[in-house]
Amino acid sequence: MKNAFATHEVFNQSPPFEDVNLFTTDHALAEAVSREGGGHAVKRLTAFGAVCGSAEAFQRARLANENPPRLKPFDSKGRRLDVVEFHPAYHACMEISVKEGLHCSAWGHLAKPGAQPLPGANVARSAGTYMAIQMEPGHQCPITMTNAAVPALLVEPELAKWWLPKILAREYDQGFKPAAAKRGVTLGMGMTEKQGGTDVRANTTTAEPAGKGGPGAEYLITGHKWFMSAPMSDAFLVLAQAPGGLSCFLMPRFLPDGTVNTLRFQRLKEKLGNRSNASSEVEFQAAHAWLIGEEGRGVATIIEMVTCTRLDCAVGSAGLMRLTLANAIHHCRHRTVYQRHLVDQPLMAQVLADLALDVEAATALSFRLARSFDRVADTHAAAWRRLMTPVTKYWVCKMGPALAYEAMECLGGNGYVEEGLAARLYRELPLNAIWEGSGNVMALDLLRVLQREPETVEIVMEDLSKAVSGDGHLEGHLARVQGLLHEPRLLDKRGRDLAEALATLAAGTILRAHAPTAVADAFIATRLSGGPRQTYGQGLDWADTRAIVDRALPM
Ligand SMILES: Cc1cc2nc3c(=O)[nH]c(=O)nc-3n(C[C@H](O)[C@H](O)[C@H](O)COP(=O)(O)OP(=O)(O)OC[C@H]3O[C@@H](n4cnc5c(N)ncnc54)[C@H](O)[C@@H]3O)c2cc1C
Repeated sequence: MKNAFATHEVFNQSPPFEDVNLFTTDHALAEAVSREGGGHAVKRLTAFGAVCGSAEAFQRARLANENPPRLKPFDSKGRRLDVVEFHPAYHACMEISVKEGLHCSAWGHLAKPGAQPLPGANVARSAGTYMAIQMEPGHQCPITMTNAAVPALLVEPELAKWWLPKILAREYDQGFKPAAAKRGVTLGMGMTEKQGGTDVRANTTTAEPAGKGGPGAEYLITGHKWFMSAPMSDAFLVLAQAPGGLSCFLMPRFLPDGTVNTLRFQRLKEKLGNRSNASSEVEFQAAHAWLIGEEGRGVATIIEMVTCTRLDCAVGSAGLMRLTLANAIHHCRHRTVYQRHLVDQPLMAQVLADLALDVEAATALSFRLARSFDRVADTHAAAWRRLMTPVTKYWVCKMGPALAYEAMECLGGNGYVEEGLAARLYRELPLNAIWEGSGNVMALDLLRVLQREPETVEIVMEDLSKAVSGDGHLEGHLARVQGLLHEPRLLDKRGRDLAEALATLAAGTILRAHAPTAVADAFIATRLSGGPRQTYGQGLDWADTRAIVDRALPM
């Protein structure tokens, strides 16, 4: 019977974007994984794609972000606690990602002495990361840091011998207890202080040897960190000034005798996004830590960790961009305005296709970078890793916020409302550009390679020169990049120009070789040549926008 008081019936609203397999519906991802050497993982990734895109997963993400972590500095009687409480939804995300091995699978070979890395392990792991961050981005912070901490830990074999088996265990234990009592652990990182995050040499936190000092020895750390995320990690890689200069230490939450180490959390940051993740301000009151590497070699020791996190920033931003795009396409396929689906309206079709071009390029470039992490013994891959890590991190992470804004607008007013996905993704996306080396820092790192490792640049440019041949637009763009490289007087002011030009050139060559013609033609024509553009949805009136959109999210 009709309800006499019903004021309206809900129609012309899109169904929720959920219960989608984030792997099988993402052709750009699946092709990149196989192309770059991760083909062995397709079955596993297909299953993981279903988990990450389930309605339950999106619901969990909403809960983890609506119920952010809370710091409990003291118990009810005033005794120090220094613990952070998370919503169960956050722990559930951690459990899923740890079980999948996203915090360690690239290092699985270390479980067997003398074993070689599994080919494509970084590519396969990156694909998992790309989907897990779509499931819920905040929890990926400790996952990323744990994976990235491994190469730094390996510098100190005795420490690595104790910690590695627990990192490789793929068991998440949320309990606040000594690592010795846990089968699985996660690690964090403390570099940034109030007076400097980029310039860590300005760190004032001190490290006094507890005994004779030296690599692997115990020190007492006194000072602070202005940002230290995932404070419930089992240990942190921390920078502090030892007598011999800035050094890298492993600081556990508990001491070997089972007592709590003196990390005093002051407060948690109230952040724009990334709310499920706790980012603390912390003071160390003669906290115990063990030196990794030589005194004075702190930056050199931790740089490998930083490089690994930069890969995750690029991969993660590409993943979040893909989700924001897929959500927009989904809505526009269901929403009718003026008797026509939005996706079929010429202006909207151009906007969606334009967004899809950046997502496909970001995905292609990030996975090419991931491959270079798998083949470090190869000179070309090593050169690519060194030069293209800052370039890819710069370009992919910078695109995210603008893309998320435009994708949000595709949903109209619904996009601006918290209950949907778009608003949360929009608030999340600037973060990957800021941490682990913000835009200018990436541009400066690129310039450092030009100045100090010209042979690295030569190798990459040689590879790119071969890849452009036969395509006039690509050849023209290559000449532009070479022009920038040969203007050394201006380079210190043109790091961003060069980073963007290199990224679009590299992405263009990958798309030309591997993407459908509609995608490659449109990307190259609009990003590598053509008129200036300041917003999405321009210059594609001639392109096969339907083919581009349908590839981005198959019907
Ligand atoms: C949510 C969140 C979580 C974080 N978690 C952690 C964590 O767990 N551990 C940790 O150690 N840190 C963490 N950070 C800190 C982060 O890594 C730093 O904020 C970042 O490295 C920048 O440092 P800064 O904030 O001191 O900015 P600054 O170093 O002051 O830089 C400010 C701006 O100046 C630019 N700049 C710097 N040098 C130059 C130059 N020579 N020329 C031109 N421009 C320049 C930078 O690109 C940046 O845009 C976190 C940050 C956030 C937002």
